[in-house]
Amino acid sequence: MRYSALSIFKNALGGNKDWQPVWREPEPKKKYDVIIAGGGGHGLATAYYLAHEFGVRNIGVIEKSYIGNGNIGRNTTIIRSNYLLEGNTPFYELSLKLWEGLEQDFNFNAMVSQRGVVNLVHTDGQRDAARRRGNAMRMHGVDAEYLDLKTIRDMLPFFDYSNARFPIMGGLIQRRGGTVRHDAVAWGFARGADSYGVDIIQNCEMTGVRREGSKITGVETSKGFIECDKLALSAAGHSSVVAEMAGIKLPIESHVLQAFVSEGLKPFIDTVVTYGAGHFYISQSDKGGLVFGGDIDGYNSYARRGNLATVEHVMEAGVAMIPALSRVKVLRSWGGIMDMSMDGSPIIDKAPLDNLYINAGWCYGGFKATPASGWCYAHLIAKDEPHPVAKFMRLDRFRRGYLIDERGAGAQPNLH
Ligand SMILES: Cc1cc2nc3c(=O)[nH]c(=O)nc-3n(C[C@H](O)[C@H](O)[C@H](O)COP(=O)(O)OP(=O)(O)OC[C@H]3O[C@@H](n4cnc5c(N)ncnc54)[C@H](O)[C@@H]3O)c2cc1C
Repeated sequence: MRYSALSIFKNALGGNKDWQPVWREPEPKKKYDVIIAGGGGHGLATAYYLAHEFGVRNIGVIEKSYIGNGNIGRNTTIIRSNYLLEGNTPFYELSLKLWEGLEQDFNFNAMVSQRGVVNLVHTDGQRDAARRRGNAMRMHGVDAEYLDLKTIRDMLPFFDYSNARFPIMGGLIQRRGGTVRHDAVAWGFARGADSYGVDIIQNCEMTGVRREGSKITGVETSKGFIECDKLALSAAGHSSVVAEMAGIKLPIESHVLQAFVSEGLKPFIDTVVTYGAGHFYISQSDKGGLVFGGDIDGYNSYARRGNLATVEHVMEAGVAMIPALSRVKVLRSWGGIMDMSMDGSPIIDKAPLDNLYINAGWCYGGFKATPASGWCYAHLIAKDEPHPVAKFMRLDRFRRGYLIDERGAGAQPNLH
């Protein structure tokens, strides 16, 4: 059913009894043209675009838990395309453009809010790097603006400007960046895919892969064996686990990343801000909670909770940037499992097998990528060739030495 002002009005008059389930709860078929393993944001977006753009309809998305329980419902909701490298900028800009039209496209309110993303700078070197990044973005047709101290002060009056250890000098803003309600993205893509007949099968864990030589014939699941012509992996933090079932070893480590939400406050920050002197980023949700986070915990883990040392580190960075935060109570915190690749950039590629596809390595930046990742992965699965904006995100770049090292940290997943 399509959502519109008229449908809200009609249902209100009818006592709200006619709303349909947002997606069906089908049992798995015996065989699918494409099985997508992992019903997170990327898996669901892939199913949606495969059906919507490429006409593939016989698709099963198998999800070991429920839709929205993975990182798609755990991230800090930031979207942006303020990248420097050629391998990244066009891809993330495609994603931002898709976000801009997404709600109309899949007819679901995902609360896309282009409230801007500001990266603060605190040293001359950082200022030069921010300007360079801004210029690179503008050369790719992406919006970027350098803001001087006065403009930043007017915009963010509660920040520490007088007594800070790392004084704020200015910042780079991408005004088209912002936030999106993360779980609504999963629900919107699930609903959109379901409307084309895609089966979204929750509580169905992939436990093994059947192979005949270099061809995948199907997957073992907690609901039995399902045949498929193509298998597309999209399991985020469990990417290396599911790839191993097919006999592929990925250059990925799983790490935990935490997020925090404060008690509800009156409007305080109307944009997204990242601290340049520590790893800290913050925005305010529409309910009033401050949503913030920092760096990964730095050790391999599949546990979706973090350690207190990182909590302390994040709070310290937050208070250094906004001293008033020391008076705010944290209401909730949680962790998610990050598929950290060796260079901090993702992989959208065909595996060295006949009919296996890999979407992995999103690290802690995969939420913003969700629409473009789905689009480019669907393109790859349907046409067996990479989408032009994802052509650098190949698996063999690690062997060939063509890393996409946006941060310049080298081949160290725990440093990205
Ligand atoms: C705390 C935190 C903050 C973040 N902040 C941001 C941010 O602000 N901006 C940003 O761009 N990114 C952010 N990210 C990263 C982003 O959330 C992820 O990169 C992205 O969501 C990963 O893709 P996904 O949505 O498909 O993952 P998921 O939602 O995790 O989907 C993978 C799915 O695969 C399923 N699965 C795993 N194994 C199996 C199996 N064997 N069989 C079947 N299903 C399986 C899982 O249950 C899961 O549902 C953040 C992440 C975290 C945890």
